[in-house]
Amino acid sequence: MSQTPISQLFSADHPLLSVEFFPPKTEEALEKLVESGDDLAFYQPDFVSVTYGAGGSTRDRSAQACQLLRDEHEFNIMPHLTCVGASRDELAETINGLYDSGYRNIMALRGDPPKDADSFVVAENGFAYASDLVAFIKELHPDIAIGVAGYPEKHPEAPDLATDLRHLKTKVDAGASFITTQLFFDNADLYRFLEEADKLDISVPVIPGIMPVLSVKQIKRITSMCGASLPKELESHLNNAGEDKELVRQIGIRWATEQIQDLIEMGLPGIHLYALNRSDVATELMSAFRTATVSE
Ligand SMILES: Cc1cc2nc3c(=O)[nH]c(=O)nc-3n(C[C@H](O)[C@H](O)[C@H](O)COP(=O)(O)OP(=O)(O)OC[C@H]3O[C@@H](n4cnc5c(N)ncnc54)[C@H](O)[C@@H]3O)c2cc1C
Repeated sequence: MSQTPISQLFSADHPLLSVEFFPPKTEEALEKLVESGDDLAFYQPDFVSVTYGAGGSTRDRSAQACQLLRDEHEFNIMPHLTCVGASRDELAETINGLYDSGYRNIMALRGDPPKDADSFVVAENGFAYASDLVAFIKELHPDIAIGVAGYPEKHPEAPDLATDLRHLKTKVDAGASFITTQLFFDNADLYRFLEEADKLDISVPVIPGIMPVLSVKQIKRITSMCGASLPKELESHLNNAGEDKELVRQIGIRWATEQIQDLIEMGLPGIHLYALNRSDVATELMSAFRTATVSE
């Protein structure tokens, strides 16, 4: 597949399917991830996104993962990019490099504060907000499709959803083509978010992000960082499963499958899968997506 701006892929009768990877820490794990692309290719994701880490070596691996997934499997790739620790000149170099390598999509993010810091630190001559990065990319390469992050339960630093949505609107007005959401487990949170976004005339497509629970410990860590909440019903299923890891996994997959079915029925323009680099999980959920779209 050639590198196509995602903005050109949205259509009324075909919800998009995307899957996200994070760059593995070792060369061996990276190879394994790329090999697993064969299984994913069967389900023809419309795009594959690759996260961008805070440090130098993970950034190199992000670039490597993007290139390998593109070259080996011809996936339409959306590299992520953050403002963390980079000046405008450095960001321009990265963006121009991506463009010259043929990429036509970028997920533009502010990034998180480093582990040992309380709040985000703006790099010297860098950007404070993702909206600044969006405007910068748009100015450099107007034909790149830009995705931005949306938070159905608000961003953890935002005082309330209304304030966060006003900032989301700034990102869209700066040139974002679509929004991918943070993970959430209660579709009602997303529908509330969409209603409020609509009131602000945020009219670009919103792709809901779905992550299955695969382990209680892992999901508690992730939700405490990103501010997503676990519905009581899901928590109670997980408590009943106790230490039975396989049962926890089955509960997680079933919950995510039901979320996907409902979102497709409600006419959402796509589904983004946070599959935690697990190709078995990604393929199960991709299969659920395809079944839901066929029965629509
Ligand atoms: C789909 C998705 C993919 C992600 N991928 C990555 C990744 O690859 N690498 C990574 O490090 N992190 C990633 N993240 C995490 C993200 O970097 C963090 O959530 C980060 O804390 C915020 O990034 P943002 O782009 O949403 O920031 P912003 O949109 O800049 O918002 C950050 C905070 O500032 C507030 N704000 C925005 N504009 C203003 C303004 N003008 N004035 C005052 N306040 C303002 C917002 O309300 C929010 O609270 C991802 C998140 C999502 C949802």
